[in-house]
Amino acid sequence: MDNRVIFDKTTPGRKTNYIKKPDIGIKKPDELLPQETLRNDLILPSLGELDVVRHYTNLSRLNFSVDTNFYPLGSCTMKYNPKINEELAALCGFLNIHPYQPEESIQGALELIYNLEKILREITGMSRFSFQASSGAQGELTGMLMVRKYHKINKSKKRKVIVPDSSHGTNPATSSMCGYETVVVESNKDGLIDLDKLSQAIDNEVAAVMLTNPNTLGLFEENILAISEMVHKAGGFLYYDGANFNPLLGITNPALMGFDVIHLNLHKTFSTPHGCGGPGAGAVGVNDKLLDFLPCPLVNKEDEKFYFNYKVKHSIGKLRAFYGNFSVLVRAYAYLLRLGKEGLPRVAQNATLNANYIKAKLKNYYNTASSKSSMHEVVFSCVKQKERGISALDIAKRLIDYGMHPPTMYFPLIAKEALMVEPTETENKETLDYFIEAMLKINKEIDDNPQNIKDAPHHTPVKRVDEVKAARNPDLRWQCKKIGA
Ligand SMILES: *Cc1c(COP(=O)(O)O)cnc(C)c1O
Repeated sequence: MDNRVIFDKTTPGRKTNYIKKPDIGIKKPDELLPQETLRNDLILPSLGELDVVRHYTNLSRLNFSVDTNFYPLGSCTMKYNPKINEELAALCGFLNIHPYQPEESIQGALELIYNLEKILREITGMSRFSFQASSGAQGELTGMLMVRKYHKINKSKKRKVIVPDSSHGTNPATSSMCGYETVVVESNKDGLIDLDKLSQAIDNEVAAVMLTNPNTLGLFEENILAISEMVHKAGGFLYYDGANFNPLLGITNPALMGFDVIHLNLHKTFSTPHGCGGPGAGAVGVNDKLLDFLPCPLVNKEDEKFYFNYKVKHSIGKLRAFYGNFSVLVRAYAYLLRLGKEGLPRVAQNATLNANYIKAKLKNYYNTASSKSSMHEVVFSCVKQKERGISALDIAKRLIDYGMHPPTMYFPLIAKEALMVEPTETENKETLDYFIEAMLKINKEIDDNPQNIKDAPHHTPVKRVDEVKAARNPDLRWQCKKIGA
């Protein structure tokens, strides 16, 4: 494959110029538009049509996706997204509606939102949901803005939010964006929240404790009821980061664990293709305490008619335009209806089984971050490999040569040389065995030929990149400089 960028493939003056010129007196843009709007400095490459097609088709073939290969990127839940979801989301009645249409003409879409909410309420035990947030992180912001407004109205002086040291980075970020001081509580040696340290940190100034369960080490917080009691006694809320809800589906729910406000990543657990900032939906659920604070509008039903309800007493307002990423809601609804009550717990069980299968097969070779049994993902701590000169990063890069996406690296921060593996429920045993075998081969290669691992990946057009440089020194005018502009 020719790996040059398209600007390096340019030949001045080249175009697909055997196309007949129109003979009907069409005016050129510069005859039609005001002179000051014309961009004469635009530097575009000159190529024939076929060159352009080949350039972009070949680039597209470098894409890595769940539909091509194993993608065990922990915490991201890269499960297979059934194709029927796409078909249904593309139904013309869903695809071609406009947010400004009158309610009478979008009754079907409103019914879908209404029904989806009903199912999610049943699965989570929450009282109501808002679908406005476009991501998990925005869902957290939604939830914590409600918490903040609740405390403000009740005139309680809260200024702190507690997160465990294993928390996802979006949790402290959300707390800071809401103006709270973030207090980090250490985990114990098992990787769970240290209850003594938590009780020392909790006082009447704590607005909320933000938790994910299972936590980012893939472990179930066994003391969740005690934690819930502590924070509620202090007048705070218990926030549930439900981005990783996969292993709990149909097994237990956040309401039973004492959570007051939650978000679910519909694009993770409920099967919408995601990544690269693609469309998501953070479904935010609350119990009765926060009902009056939800963003509006909500979808209500009266006399067999669905309508947007803007009358939410203390609503935090809107998080974005209109009603959220509707097509993600269609996919989630299709997914839920297809699995049904019987399917959901099987998702949870198989996701957990797959992670523990990998853990059992590899734990004699790679340390695990905790000896507790895992839920949907397993975090390896590659310290034994590091001692032999190969880092978690090297192992991740070498896995690319085996045709697999690397696991999440160096997260959670509390695990040294972490590789966080989330196989999801949709992978078969052969694929898991292939991954396990690759991990064992790499472990052996550390003794036989470590340089080969350090030089990995071997078969990609781009090898190891300077990950910091692209962010710190973006050179966006590179192509212009190249052609002397
Ligand atoms: C993915 C994830 C988030 C953030 O979700 P986005 O949709 O990427 O904003 C938050 N918490 C946890 C635990 C996650 O895994």
